[in-house]
Amino acid sequence: MKTIWVLGDQLNRKTGAMVNAEPGEHRILMVESLAKLESLPYHRQRLHFVLASMRRFAAELRNEGFDVDYRQGDSLEAGFEAHRDEHGDHDVVATEPLSRGARDLMERLDVELVRNGQFLCHPDEFAEWAEGRERLRMEDFYRWQRKRLGYLMDDDEPEGGQWNFDEDNREPPPKDGGDWPEPIVDDLDELDEEVLTYLPDSATGEPPAGWWATSREGALRRLDHFVEHALPKFGTYEDAMLAENWHLAHSLLSPYLNLGMLHPAEVCDAVEEAYRKGDAPINSAEGFIRQVIGWREFIWGLYWLWPDHIEANELGNDHPLPPMFTGEASTEMRCVGGVLEDLDQRAWVHHIPRLMILSNFFNLVGVRPKEVVDWMTSRYIDGAEWVMVPNVIGMGMWADSGDMATKPYVSGGSYINKMSDYCGDCRFNPRNRTGDDACPFTTLYWDFIARHRSTLEGNHRMARAVSGFDRLSDGEETRERAAEVIDLVLDGSL
Ligand code: SF4
Repeated sequence: MKTIWVLGDQLNRKTGAMVNAEPGEHRILMVESLAKLESLPYHRQRLHFVLASMRRFAAELRNEGFDVDYRQGDSLEAGFEAHRDEHGDHDVVATEPLSRGARDLMERLDVELVRNGQFLCHPDEFAEWAEGRERLRMEDFYRWQRKRLGYLMDDDEPEGGQWNFDEDNREPPPKDGGDWPEPIVDDLDELDEEVLTYLPDSATGEPPAGWWATSREGALRRLDHFVEHALPKFGTYEDAMLAENWHLAHSLLSPYLNLGMLHPAEVCDAVEEAYRKGDAPINSAEGFIRQVIGWREFIWGLYWLWPDHIEANELGNDHPLPPMFTGEASTEMRCVGGVLEDLDQRAWVHHIPRLMILSNFFNLVGVRPKEVVDWMTSRYIDGAEWVMVPNVIGMGMWADSGDMATKPYVSGGSYINKMSDYCGDCRFNPRNRTGDDACPFTTLYWDFIARHRSTLEGNHRMARAVSGFDRLSDGEETRERAAEVIDLVLDGSL
C-alpha cells in the first residue's frame, strides 16, 4: 500500500497527491511537529487553527474509509521515520510542499512529489511568465491571469470596461461608523478543547473564540456568508480602518485558502457568480478577485522565484523588534495599540493595518526585516513563509529597494488620520512633527526621507518627498525628535 503524506497546509481532498487517492490503496500520513509548534512564539489561535483543522481533515478521511496514520513527532522527519519503522520502507508520495524547508526535507527523504494544484498559477508557469521581463509588475501578472483564467472577462475585454477599479476602493470609513455584517462565530467542541490543552507554553495571544472555522464545512459556510452579506460592501471600504470594528466587509477567507480548505477557483467562481447575478458591484468583485488571482498568486510565484529574498535589507535596518511587539511594553500610539489589541484577540487584522500601520512603523523605526517576517508569520492566523517573505521584504519593508514595489509604502500620521478613526482620541497629533505631542509616524516619516535621501532622490515617486523635506523649516529639529522617538520606542516607553 502506498502512503500519501499530507502536510498541515495541504488540507484539500481534490488537489495534488490526493486527487487519485483511494481508501484501500492509499494510507494517509499526517504529522504534527513539536519543533514547528515551538519554533516561534506563535499565536495560540494560529496553532489551534492548524492543529484542529488537521485533526478534522484526518477524521473526514477516516470517515471516507482511509487508514490514517496521524502522529505527533519531535519533528516532521521524526514522525516520518516512525511511520516507516511501523509500516516498512515503502513508497511515499506527497503534494509539492508550500515552503522551501519542507520541500528540501521531502527531497532528502526521497518522497515522490506530485505537482501542487492549490494555486491557479504553478511556480513553473510563473517563472515562464517572468522570464525576460525587465520588471515584474503585479498589474501585468494580474491581467495575464485574468485573460488565461477568464475571470470577469467579456470576450477579450475586461468586464466593466477597465481592468482595475482601485479608484473606487479607497474611501475612508463612513463618518457614522457604517453598518457591517457580523462574521459567523461557532462554538468550540471537544476536539478544540483537546487541541488547546496540547499547545506549547511559548504560545501567545488570546485563546480562540469561534471566529475561525477548522473544517471544510465551516470554511464553506463562511464563503457563502461573505459572498451574500459582505461582498457588496467590500470594495469601496477595503482600505478603511475603524477602531471599533475589526472586520468591516473583509472576507476573512485567507486562513482557509492558505491551508487548502478552500480553493482559490471556488472562491473566485462564487464571487463572479454573485456579480453576474447582480448581487455585487463590479468594484467589489474585481477588487476581491484581484487580491486572489493577482496579488496572492504573484506573492506565491515570487517566493519560489527569488530564493534569497529573505536576506534582503537594502535600507540597512538594524534595530530589534521593539518591546511593544513582544508584549513586554504597551504603547500610547492609539493606532498601533489598537491593531496589536485586535491581533491579540483574533490573530488577524486586514491588509491596511498590516501595511500602513505595522510594516510602516517597523520601517520608519528601522527594524531588521527578518525579525518582522518572523513576527508576522507567528502572529497571524493566515501567516506562512511564502506569504510573509515577499509581502514583508518586498512590499512592507522595501528591503529589496524596489525589486517588487516601485516605492516604499511609508507615510506619516496624516494618511492614518484620513483612512481611520484612530487619531481623534490619540494623545499625539498627526499634524505635528516636533514636540511632545508630535505623532511618531509623522516625525519618523520625515526622518526616514532624510535618512534614506541618497536612495530615494533618484526614485521619481519619492523625489517630491525628498524636496518636501528640504522645504521644512524645522527639518533638523524633526530629526532630533525622531532620534528621541526611536530611543523611546526601543526602550518601551512610548
Ligand atoms: Fe497613530 Fe499618530 Fe494617529 Fe496617534 S496621531 S493614532 S500615533 S497616526
